[in-house]
Amino acid sequence: LIPQPSPIGDQKAITEDGHSISVVANILGVGDAQLAIDFGAQGVGNLRTELLYLERLTPPTEEEQFNIYRAIADILNPYPLTIRTVDIGGDKPVPYLNLEGEKNPFLGWRGIRQSLECEDLFKTQLRAILRASEGNNIRLMFPMVASVGEIRAAKAMLTEVKQELQEKGIGFNPKIPVGVMIEIPAAVIMADKIAPEVDFLSLGTNDLSQYIMAADRTNAKVAKLADGFEPAVLRMVAQTVKIGHKEGIKVSVCGQIASNSQAVPILIGLGVDELSVNPPSIGKVKEVISGLKLEEVQKLADQVLNLESAQEVKDFING
Ligand code: PEP
Ligand code: MG
Repeated sequence: LIPQPSPIGDQKAITEDGHSISVVANILGVGDAQLAIDFGAQGVGNLRTELLYLERLTPPTEEEQFNIYRAIADILNPYPLTIRTVDIGGDKPVPYLNLEGEKNPFLGWRGIRQSLECEDLFKTQLRAILRASEGNNIRLMFPMVASVGEIRAAKAMLTEVKQELQEKGIGFNPKIPVGVMIEIPAAVIMADKIAPEVDFLSLGTNDLSQYIMAADRTNAKVAKLADGFEPAVLRMVAQTVKIGHKEGIKVSVCGQIASNSQAVPILIGLGVDELSVNPPSIGKVKEVISGLKLEEVQKLADQVLNLESAQEVKDFING
């Protein structure tokens, strides 16, 4: 498969009946930011910051992070850059984090759980993100949130960092949008409590699938059970979208399923506002969206929610 740049360039994808959907990119660093734009992204829906933290003996400094976030934001301007705070778990060697030896790293100390306990590390990242947000379209996103309390705690630290910067006269965007990844089933169930705390939600269907299906996505024996086409997963997407919209906030999907052209009609039918996909998939995803009629895919989504398995959903889509 040779990836093709989007035939409609960086324009928004618009359904046949005139509904616009933003298609943004998942990236890992400065290297693929330009690639995302070249492929027609309207910004970045998930900058995974893990790469900055891996394969080194000491954590990245504030200056190092600031330079990278600023460089990416400059490339994307005026499109948004969504920076996800670090999500490293016990499956990765990180000498300065003392992560070794977890029996179940995917049920372990990662994402926001770790950040809230490693205050220095977390605040350094928040300072770098805030500083880069001055004059730039940067959004902040927290991974692996399971409860409202975690969001409040993370926001409290953000407020402290903002105050410190303000006291020092250092510039930042005081209104930086804050969102959370919805990738733990508890966060879906509690979405009505979570949504009022944030400016956007982004469904991480990779983790959500593994947690809903209780199937480790890295264990070859069971990974296929963690399928985003499972009606159990799709029902959680539907529930999250409904609650997000009731609270007046946008809901994105940044898991792998958003890059799957068979899944796109279902996700749009479920009301998802934004798809964050791998840069090479942008053109195809936009093309699929351009051929959809909202009313039709809403019906399709309703039908799919009543099927019994991922296979049934796929067979139905292939019609
Ligand atoms: C996800 O879980 O769907 C996600 C986007 O996060 P990651 O794959 O980085 O865990
Ligand atoms: Mg995840």
